[in-house]
Parts: sequence; structure tokens; C-alpha cells
Amino acid sequence: MKLILLGAPGAGKGTVAKLLTKMDGSVQISTGDILRAAVAAGSDLGKQAKAAMDAGDLVSDDLIMGIMGERLKEDDCKNGYLLDGFPRTIPQAEALKVLLADMGEELDAVVNIDVPRDVILDRLTTRRTCSDCGEIYNVKSNPPKEEGKCDKCGGPVVQRDDETVEVISNRLEVYNEMTAPLAGFYDKEGMLLTVEATSSDAVIDAIKAKLAS
Ligand code: ADP
Ligand code: ZN
Repeated sequence: MKLILLGAPGAGKGTVAKLLTKMDGSVQISTGDILRAAVAAGSDLGKQAKAAMDAGDLVSDDLIMGIMGERLKEDDCKNGYLLDGFPRTIPQAEALKVLLADMGEELDAVVNIDVPRDVILDRLTTRRTCSDCGEIYNVKSNPPKEEGKCDKCGGPVVQRDDETVEVISNRLEVYNEMTAPLAGFYDKEGMLLTVEATSSDAVIDAIKAKLAS
């Protein structure tokens, strides 16, 4: 399947994407993960992206389209992909449309995961992430077996630099302003599936039903 996962920070895009990859071998492509890896590696890309990321602002559309133009042409995309955190602006969505048309590809759906703001805030402040493999934990509902240590790879499980209360509220504001309009964009294209859900299983069920119809 080829899907875009839309939703505010903390809506569960990453978790849903990870569950979906197990269903049919499609690959999760998270621009946030790609950028964090670049920052950790200290590459040019990372250097260009870091300040915006730390402030909870968006990285430039050109930088993102450069990354995604390459990424979508890689071999592992043949079995489908779940775009997690991309596109995030109308210009990115327009550019993606051109890119896919050039590649002769079509998306199955755009899934908008709609979660109440209080749930989002609670999730983001309690979320922890493995800095080595990106596995996501939650101090309340899903802590690693050993505190601060990833169950999967043993890497350090930490709070992201952009998960302080101030940066989180900026990320939510940026989302409402820049990314929320994408729901209308894809609705017009006839591709939007909005799922109001607080559990990832409910989101998966809605996606399965949509793809089967
Ligand atoms: P979230 O949990 O907020 O969805 P991500 O992990 O997707 O966060 O992204 C982290 C940061 O990386 C964003 O706050 C932003 O600075 C940058 N970023 C990721 N994807 C994009 C994108 N498509 N366009 C612009 N900036 C992006
Ligand atoms: Zn890990």
C-alpha cells in the first residue's frame, strides 16, 4: 500500500506506520527520522536542519523535497510506502503530486489521524525515543523494560530535544497553520480518510476497511 499518514505531532503516525509495515512489507518513510539521523551524523543536511528542528519549526520545502525525491526512488519502495510526517505543507503536497505523476505512481489514500489536543499534549510530554533505532516508548503506558534502555537495540531511550513543553506547543501551532490545510487539499483530490481514534488498532482497522472497499 501507498499511504500518507497525516496527523498532529503525537497523533500516532509513527506507531501506526510501524504496525502497517508488518502487514504487507511496505516501508515506513519518516522525514523526521531521516532528519534526526542526519543531525546525529553531523552531515550537511543535519546542520541545515537542526536549528529549525530544535525550535519546532519546519525545515525548508526544498530540503525536504530533495530528500524525498531520492528516497522514493529507492528499491525498497517497490512494495509500497507509508509516508510519516511528509508532506507537511501545501507546496510539499503539490511537489509530491508532480513527483508521483513523473514516476507513474498513485497513492491509495491519505489517512488523517485525528486525536484530541489534550491526549496529544499528554502523549508528547511522556513520549521517549530510542536515539539509536527510533523505537518509541511512553513513560506511563509503555516504558522500556530497563529504564532508559531500548528493549530492541539497547540504545539510550531519551526525551527528544523538541519535546519540551514550549517546543511542543510551537510544533502544534505550526501543525495547525501549515499542515492541517492538507486535509482539505486531499479531500478535494478524493483521497482523504479521516479517522477519529485514540488507539492505533482502531486506526489500522479503518485503513483496512478503506483499502478493502
Ligand atoms: P512529529 O512527531 O512532530 O510529527 P517528526 O519526527 O515528524 O515530528 O519531525 C520532527 C521535526 O523534523 C519537525 O518538527 C520539523 O522540524 C522537521 N520535519 C520533519 N518532516 C518535515 C517536513 N515534511 N517538512 C518540514 N520539516 C519537517
Ligand atoms: Zn533502539
